[in-house]
Amino acid sequence: MRVRKRIHVSGIVQGVGFRPYVYRLADAHRLSGHIANNAAGVVIEVQGAESAVAEFLRALPRDAPPLALITDLRVAEIACDGDAAFTILPSEKSESVRTLILPDIATCDDCLRELFDPADRRYLYPFTNCTNCGPRFTIIRGLPYDRPQTSMSVFPMCPRCQAEYDDPRNRRFHAQPNACPKCGPRVEMLDATGRPLDSANPLADAGALLRAGSIVAVKGLGGFHLAADAGNAAAVERLRERKHRVEKPFAVMVPDLGAAACLCELTDEDRPLLSSPRRPIVLLPRKVDSAIAECVAPFQSTLGLFLPYTPLHHILLRNSQLPALVMTSGNLSEEPIAITNAEAVTGLGGIADAFLVHNREILLRCDDSVVRRVAGRTRHLRRSRGYVPVPVFLHREFPAVLAAGGELKSTICVLKGRQAFLSQHIGDLENAEAFNFFREAVEHLQKILEVRPALLAYDLHPDYFSTRWALEQTNMRAVAVQHHHAHIASCMAENHLDGRVIGIALDGTGYGTDGCVWGGEVLVAAYQGFTRAAHLAYVPMPGGSAAIRQPWRMAISYLAAHFGDDFSALPIEFNRSLERGKTKTLLKMMKENINSPLTSSCGRLFDAVAALIGVRREVNYEGQAAIELEAIIGDCNDPLSYPVDLKRGSPPNNACTQIHTRPMFENLIRDLQSHVPAPVISRRFHSGVVEAFARAAELVRDDSALNRVCLSGGSFQNAFLLEHLTTRLASSGFEVFSHSEVPTGDGGLSLGQAIIAGS
Ligand code: ZN
Ligand code: ZN
Ligand code: FE
Repeated sequence: MRVRKRIHVSGIVQGVGFRPYVYRLADAHRLSGHIANNAAGVVIEVQGAESAVAEFLRALPRDAPPLALITDLRVAEIACDGDAAFTILPSEKSESVRTLILPDIATCDDCLRELFDPADRRYLYPFTNCTNCGPRFTIIRGLPYDRPQTSMSVFPMCPRCQAEYDDPRNRRFHAQPNACPKCGPRVEMLDATGRPLDSANPLADAGALLRAGSIVAVKGLGGFHLAADAGNAAAVERLRERKHRVEKPFAVMVPDLGAAACLCELTDEDRPLLSSPRRPIVLLPRKVDSAIAECVAPFQSTLGLFLPYTPLHHILLRNSQLPALVMTSGNLSEEPIAITNAEAVTGLGGIADAFLVHNREILLRCDDSVVRRVAGRTRHLRRSRGYVPVPVFLHREFPAVLAAGGELKSTICVLKGRQAFLSQHIGDLENAEAFNFFREAVEHLQKILEVRPALLAYDLHPDYFSTRWALEQTNMRAVAVQHHHAHIASCMAENHLDGRVIGIALDGTGYGTDGCVWGGEVLVAAYQGFTRAAHLAYVPMPGGSAAIRQPWRMAISYLAAHFGDDFSALPIEFNRSLERGKTKTLLKMMKENINSPLTSSCGRLFDAVAALIGVRREVNYEGQAAIELEAIIGDCNDPLSYPVDLKRGSPPNNACTQIHTRPMFENLIRDLQSHVPAPVISRRFHSGVVEAFARAAELVRDDSALNRVCLSGGSFQNAFLLEHLTTRLASSGFEVFSHSEVPTGDGGLSLGQAIIAGS
């Protein structure tokens, strides 16, 4: 029997090779009918033998192109028609405007084969791409997503490229950045001062320079990288010196999975993540005695690896003949990544020995994404290239909202209907360049989403640049959102939760409703509001932000809080290293309440312990002390944990439970005195923090009867903490939720802000 079905497919099904895919699928099942793009996705009609149509419907979602994301698929039976073949119908201009813009996608296998096939017309052509791969987000000027609206508009296609572009059966059908050596962009070498070098083969020359130990600035997809031989310690040290980057680890690009496996331990889940079309940097446990220079990632147990994601990278790695390249963002310390050739020459002139540039403009900067597998799921440390602007799909409709995010590692977010669009990683707004980038991102995101929200969410912190900016806006209603409330709401949103939850928000810094620096919080939270149920007991932060850069200050603060001024009599190595004068000043500051804000921050507790046991007294980048404290645990599996005191509040005036760390520090000091090894102390401390917050959550459950716990905040970048707290809570019967779509750190804050304002 012959049947005809109409199928509505929505989600990300345009610009991903979906129509050619359906065409081939229908052809293979001898079905007639047609497919067209519409506002929500695509509409398909197929007609043929009942069994063939059924098989087509089974295959349709199962074998969809890798970039397609089907959010809804509806099938209706309709009357048969007379059409004899399957055709792709043209879509109307006005309809393509609603298309979701795709992220930049790594070179696909087909393109890679052509790239290294001497017989192919794109042999070694560094801008090879097709419908399944290539640049998207970073080359778009505006909508609709058509070639004239991209930075490919200045490269008219040659007849052969045009023929591919026009042919529905071709892999390059409507591939907007389609190009070849005849008609497309080209590479060029510049010397250290930005003067063009006369080079017959710039990619070969760049490879040779890298092999010889030079630093080469390479124009990539979302910005410039600084590249150097990862096995050459002198080259990497030189890069650190010139870039003013002390100790913060560099990411390393390797040619393939085989090379990755030589440097790091890979699980079966890491492999597909490394080679996924999104190509994030993946943090992996590093092997000892690998060929990587120690100064690539000092004091780390992990290494950030990624695979090439553009043809240019593939060729460069091959030409360099090196097993691994440091590929770090082309910027000075925390400034935004350079995207134009001029920006690069000015900004990176003192760093790079040469520049490998090209003439395809990058319209939007987009840093590499960084992920890590923890407790069986992918966790974003930075969600950017390859993921942005794919929205987070929400459980219900929300009004349009713009959220300004936080201050460090910031992103912004726009809510539209059932979708939340987070921007690429913007960075630390403290510097002027990043703040300009922030304003660009705000404009651009609203433009490509064609939405002008009436609501604006921002952080409660009065001194954040994003807050000051938000308060200057007059065309939107501004809603202040508490930092940790936003973290928890962000976790709820990506897990499609509604109602009330117990939220454990652990991070470095967040402005509290009482003006103190929060960061070790247990909240009872809903989108509409929250109450603070428990927190780490307050200690002073002597010197304010200086205490963040100098963890030894927090060690003194905790010691003074628990043992009084006499702590200096404790016979521990830490005390012997202190300068008496500085210590006295600090104690006086705290006593007289001079520049010593009170904090319940979990990050500062980690800092104090890291300094106390001699892991790190001063930090060179955010989170360094906590990262190194976690790293030294290694495979130590000591079963003990340091205890804490939970002092229940007295309702109704102060219902908040205080988590006191005095017993924790008493035990820790005792261990230090008896020379217990640092890995054991670190593990006992970590387990103590896990136990403390698990028990706090149990107390909150006793009072509230809530059983869902959301974990959020930057401290959960700590894999031990996330993994063990999750297990501990689950074994106590809690339903536990954490992040895997947006960062648990402040990069995910804007999502929570937006949802709260939208509620
Ligand atoms: Zn391709
Ligand atoms: Zn061409
Ligand atoms: Fe935070």
